[in-house]
Amino acid sequence: MTHPRHALQRSSTMRALLFSSQHYDQESFTKAAGGTALELHFQPARLTLDTAALADGFEVVCAFINDELDAPVLQRLAAAGTRLIALRSAGYNHVDLAAAQRLGLAVVRVPAYSPHAVAEHAVALILALNRRLHRAYNRTREGDFTLHGLTGFDLHGKTVGVVGTGQIGVAFARIMAGFGCQLLAYDPYPNPELLALGARYLPLPELLREARIISLHCPLTEHTRHLINAQSLAQLQPGAMLINTGRGALVDTPALIDALKSGQLGYLGLDVYEEEAQLFFEDRSDLPLQDDVLARLLTFPNVIITAHQAFLTREALDAIAATTLDNINRWAAGNPQNLVMG
Ligand code: NAD
Repeated sequence: MTHPRHALQRSSTMRALLFSSQHYDQESFTKAAGGTALELHFQPARLTLDTAALADGFEVVCAFINDELDAPVLQRLAAAGTRLIALRSAGYNHVDLAAAQRLGLAVVRVPAYSPHAVAEHAVALILALNRRLHRAYNRTREGDFTLHGLTGFDLHGKTVGVVGTGQIGVAFARIMAGFGCQLLAYDPYPNPELLALGARYLPLPELLREARIISLHCPLTEHTRHLINAQSLAQLQPGAMLINTGRGALVDTPALIDALKSGQLGYLGLDVYEEEAQLFFEDRSDLPLQDDVLARLLTFPNVIITAHQAFLTREALDAIAATTLDNINRWAAGNPQNLVMG
């Protein structure tokens, strides 16, 4: 299907501005863009209403997960000549799609880059929390070779609940099946690949009651916002482990703190945080942490937080760059792919 209104003169050089770009984005995009006519500009600033003017005259704005793409920002971009929003992410919960459509802005995304990257990071959090690697690492560096407080449990035979069984959920389930875990799953659309691994699909409350480890791999939507809250945490087995590499707002963070204080939640691994946009991807180590909820979370010995790094493998970065450039070129040729519709 062609979209002539998106077609551009192929002779003109197209300019794309990459907001929130880090040195690793520059490396992967420069490598992938070799030989194409696309002119890439790397901008470390996050896209907000205050920084949108940096994109004046850029037909393509390339954004990441913590860039703001609400109606006022989109309106500002469209007014200054932007025609395409090329997301470097799979998730698009941060885009006001209705506003984009109204303004004639096309939105494309990278639906899959490396489900393994995210799934393997979820497993890394499970192993580190269970075997207390974060504590052991610090202890041995201090010359303390004792083992008290480091007792873990065998993953073999334990029940693991997978919430959201798309590409990442399946990759995660395969790894956990390899450990000899029993798999439970919750997803409105059961996946035959999970069933082939011996997983049982259950309603969420039953999954929460039966699983020793729960890992979230569903998108953030109006149905999944605060899917894990005080009520659902009360359904867990005391001492259960929760892993969230999906989106921060899948969980009600203050409710997690209460569950950790009571011991109802035994372990917590987060790669995403509801209020991460102001913090993640920046070095704020010289500044007082203003977020009291995050500060409290960081005091628990049974909590590990990573700053949205689950996607960060070489393979994923290369795939994000290749698909994004392909998305831009296909859109420019009037034959768009990976469009996100409202
Ligand atoms: P996917 O679209 O392949 O799978 C998502 C699954 O969630 C689908 O099977 C869908 O049916 C299911 N789902 C939808 N609503 C649900 C609900 N209410 N309850 C349970 N399941 C529901 O997506 P994916 O590639 O597996 O990615 C999943 C999510 O992971 C993304 O939406 C994104 O938010 C997150 N993600 C995080 C990182 C990171 O670096 N931490 C990287 C990539 C993706």
